[in-house]
Amino acid sequence: MKCAAVILAGGSGKRMGLKIPKQYMELGGKPVLFYSLNAFSEAEFIDEIVIVADEEHMEDVQSGIVDLYGFHKVSTVVKGGKERYHSVARGLEALSRDTDYVFIHDGARPFVSSYTIERCLHYVKKHRAAVAAVKSKDTVKIADDDSMIVSTPDRSRVWQVQTPQTFEYLLIRDAYRRLIDDEDRLKAAGISVTDDTMVAKMYADIDARLVESSYNNIKLTTPEDMESAEGILERIMEE
Ligand code: C5P
Repeated sequence: MKCAAVILAGGSGKRMGLKIPKQYMELGGKPVLFYSLNAFSEAEFIDEIVIVADEEHMEDVQSGIVDLYGFHKVSTVVKGGKERYHSVARGLEALSRDTDYVFIHDGARPFVSSYTIERCLHYVKKHRAAVAAVKSKDTVKIADDDSMIVSTPDRSRVWQVQTPQTFEYLLIRDAYRRLIDDEDRLKAAGISVTDDTMVAKMYADIDARLVESSYNNIKLTTPEDMESAEGILERIMEE
């Protein structure tokens, strides 16, 4: 069995008005991206890691992170695309053809635990698609265009999905190929692709298994998230 990870670090951070994209900001003296690379490198069953980076930072990622910290499972750093799904598609194409399972992970989520990675492997083998997630602590509302509440889903069934999102390799690679071919139609229909399980459902008709993860596995999005991240890091170090 061959397992691989695609670590996404291709976002520019411009949307949030950041000078440095969040995945390269410093956290506990190391770049944010270090932590997820470390987690997947330490998982014994992961054989290969592909990093997707924005063009401007590709060389720095190679020399300043991969070479510096000796992440020898990283086979290549590839250039990201405009949207997250373009970056995922490129990362998947860069993996060895004989990969059985792939973990797609946001480089901006430094606190993925080895336990979550192992549980995703367990469930992907059973269900072909598995995704880390937590139950929503807040009640969620569905609204119309005027921000009027339309419905209230039963909170016990509402989950917030995270990454890793884990799939049989050929299933998700082919689903992404179909998505790229179908891109213009999706755009015209106003459908935005925000995670990988959507792609598996839309183009391979596969339902993913939710894998209960940790509330620590946050995605760093806004500058305030960096403060929460420092707090989580301190707590994890003390454990
Ligand atoms: O923008 P968002 O927060 O959804 O990004 C999630 C992850 O996807 C981040 O790690 C980011 O670097 C990555 N990404 C990417 N290529 C893009 C946009 C986002 O690799 N075009």
